[in-house]
Amino acid sequence: MVLHASSPRQKSAIDQVETYGAHNYAPLPVVIARAEGARVTDVDGREFIDCLAAYSAVNFGHSNERLLAAATEQLHKVTLTSRAFYSEPYGPFVQALAELCGKDMVLPMNTGVEAVETGIKTARKWGYEVKGVADDQANIIVMDGNFHGRTVTVVSFSNDPDARRSFEPFTRGFRSVPFGDPAALEAAIDENTVAVLLEPIQGEAGVIVPPEGYLRQVREITTRHNVLMIADEIQAGLGRSGTTFACDREDVVPDVYLLGKALGGGIVPLSGVVANSDILGVFQPGQHGSTFGGNPLACAIGSEVVSLLREGTMQSASRDKGARFRAALDPLVDRGLLTQVRGAGLWLGLDVDPALGTAHDICHRLMDKGILAKDTHTKTIRFAPPLVISDEDLDRVIDLTTEALEEAAARPAA
Ligand SMILES: *Cc1c(COP(=O)(O)O)cnc(C)c1O
Repeated sequence: MVLHASSPRQKSAIDQVETYGAHNYAPLPVVIARAEGARVTDVDGREFIDCLAAYSAVNFGHSNERLLAAATEQLHKVTLTSRAFYSEPYGPFVQALAELCGKDMVLPMNTGVEAVETGIKTARKWGYEVKGVADDQANIIVMDGNFHGRTVTVVSFSNDPDARRSFEPFTRGFRSVPFGDPAALEAAIDENTVAVLLEPIQGEAGVIVPPEGYLRQVREITTRHNVLMIADEIQAGLGRSGTTFACDREDVVPDVYLLGKALGGGIVPLSGVVANSDILGVFQPGQHGSTFGGNPLACAIGSEVVSLLREGTMQSASRDKGARFRAALDPLVDRGLLTQVRGAGLWLGLDVDPALGTAHDICHRLMDKGILAKDTHTKTIRFAPPLVISDEDLDRVIDLTTEALEEAAARPAA
């Protein structure tokens, strides 16, 4: 199905990517040149409303003025020292982030998957050195349907065949249980279990919100068994689900927060592990690190991200706009256009009735109408616009999404 007629300029840019770039993504055929707030502009000057926000890495909007100012100021001072030396922005950043999390220690990395890897190393080291698990015996419990990134260790415990095939041999020491089932979780724990790693809301799985009370049950079970609760808040956190952390929705404080994506303000990769010193204190010099982790540029931006979050306006915008979005889309289930709407804050997963086509087909229709959204799996469209989206743009998204679904119902894709 080709609904979108690419311009020659767009087409040659795409050909170049498909010729010289590895084919590890299947992007929609739009070539973005500029962006501001929730709007992006392609190389032909056509404007779109961004409803993906780079998988929530751009929660605070493209070209956010405060974040750009912090980045620009630091760019002209010093950008990289390595951790062989101290740098001026490092201390303020780790203190601010620790305080935001109510913890006392931060280990900064770059990408999300590095935070996950660091969380796994933390839990194992804590397990052997603090909990007293026998050598080489530590296990970590993960959730079916999880997404935690793409390294060999992390895909070792994925259930997605595409993410795993031909990447063997895998890392041992993980057990997967159904998400949202506290009894299955408790049954999987033994004396060698060092951690439970979970997304408080599963993002890539399709914005799957666990049953109310589940996170509190996970907290209670992990505490009772002396097992670390590690919350991967890389996509769900930092305002996306309506609160600073998705765990806040149930007033749960995990032992370890994994953060990434929006932490770098959509400007630089910045991730981190945040926990108390009885856990993160297991690391001594030489035992873990990263050349770019905690670099001055990232820290300057990260500090501004934390001060933005401290104000609470991003979180309340997420709640208010999310409620408005949800109220407008819920009726589409009764109208037979969607089979389910799920979400938290300004983060929605819409399951498209298969009779209308795949979620990917609908995303093409949305693109033709000026909306960029991304499917996940075959039937789910994920909506995660920057939290700074205007009410006017949000109304446009609502109208055009309804229109795209109505058109698909009237004339399904071949
Ligand atoms: C995106 C994501 C990751 C991996 O982050 P990268 O920066 O792509 O490595 C890990 N966990 C969750 C929940 C994510 O959404």
